[in-house]
Amino acid sequence: MAMARRSRKDNPELLRGKLVELLQGFEHTLKTSDLRRQVQELVPAYHFLRDIGSSLMDGPGTDSGRDRILEYFKRHAGQVLNGAELMVVAGINEYPRRIRELRLEYGWPILSGVTLAEIREAGGEEAESLPQMKPDDYVMTSAERNEDAAERWRVGNQIRKEKIGVKPKILKYMLANLGKEVSGEELRYVANDKSEWARRVRELRTEEGWRITTKTTGRPTLPVGVYVLESAEQAPVHDRQIPDPVRYAAMQRDDYSCIDCKWDSRKDWSASAPRHLELHHIIPHVEGGKNTVENLVTLCNICHDERHRRGEK
Ligand SMILES: [Zn+2]
Ligand SMILES: [Zn+2]
Repeated sequence: MAMARRSRKDNPELLRGKLVELLQGFEHTLKTSDLRRQVQELVPAYHFLRDIGSSLMDGPGTDSGRDRILEYFKRHAGQVLNGAELMVVAGINEYPRRIRELRLEYGWPILSGVTLAEIREAGGEEAESLPQMKPDDYVMTSAERNEDAAERWRVGNQIRKEKIGVKPKILKYMLANLGKEVSGEELRYVANDKSEWARRVRELRTEEGWRITTKTTGRPTLPVGVYVLESAEQAPVHDRQIPDPVRYAAMQRDDYSCIDCKWDSRKDWSASAPRHLELHHIIPHVEGGKNTVENLVTLCNICHDERHRRGEK
C-alpha cells in the first residue's frame, strides 16, 4: 500500500522540482481516458508532497513525524494550529495519534478543539479567552512539559480501567495529583474519552465542594483547560454553590488578590508555597447571607482559614 511508505527527508527544492516535473507530465496523462494510469502517476506526486512537508524543518529533533509535530507546536506555542498543518509537517496521516502520545505519554500541554468545546459546554468561562477552535484544531498552551508525565500516564491508565463512574475516576486521578496542574486532556483520557468529563469536574467543585481551581476560579495564571485540586478536603457546604459568574466577578473586583494580606495570585504564586484564592461570605449563609458579589470577598486560603479560626463564620 502506498500509504504505508514512510515520508523521507530530502532537499525541499530538489523535491519541489521533481513534483513540478511530474505534474507537467501529468497534463498529457489527464487527456487520456486511462483512469488506472492517472491514479498510478499521481501516487509519486503524493509522496513528493509528503516528503517536502517532512523536509521543511531541519536540525535536531526533526527526524520522526512525532518529533516534527512537537517542534512545530513549540515554534508556535499559544497559536491555534489546524490538524492539516500538522499532517503536512509530519508527513503522516496518523498525526492525531502522535499528538495524543505527545500530550499523554510525554506530558506536553496540547489542547484540542474537541476538549475546548467540552469545557465551554460545561460552562467553563476560562474557555472564552481562547478563540473559537474547530474540532481538528490544536493549541500548545505552554511550552513546558510535565516532568512526571510517565508516572501520571501509568496511574491514569490504571484508573481508566477501573469499574467505577466517570466522576469517581476524575476525583481519584486529581487526588493522586494533589496540588499539581492537571490538563483537561488527561481528565478526558481517564474518563475513557467520554465528553461528560468537563461537567463532572464542575460538579465535583460546585456540588461536592472539592477545591478545584482554574484560570477563572482562583488561579488566573493557569493556562486554559488546566485544573488544580488544592486540598484533599471538601469545602464546607456553605461555601459551595456559588455560581461561577458570581465567583468570577467577585475575584475580578478584588483584583485577584487576598483582601487581608494583599497576596496577588497573578504575581506571587510559587510551586514551593502553593496558595490559592477562595471566596468568603461577609454575612454567613446560616444568617441569611446570599451568594451574591456584594456578599463575597476574596481571600487566600491561609487568610480564609485564619478568619474562620478567629470565629468568623
Ligand atoms: Zn491572604
Ligand atoms: Zn468563609
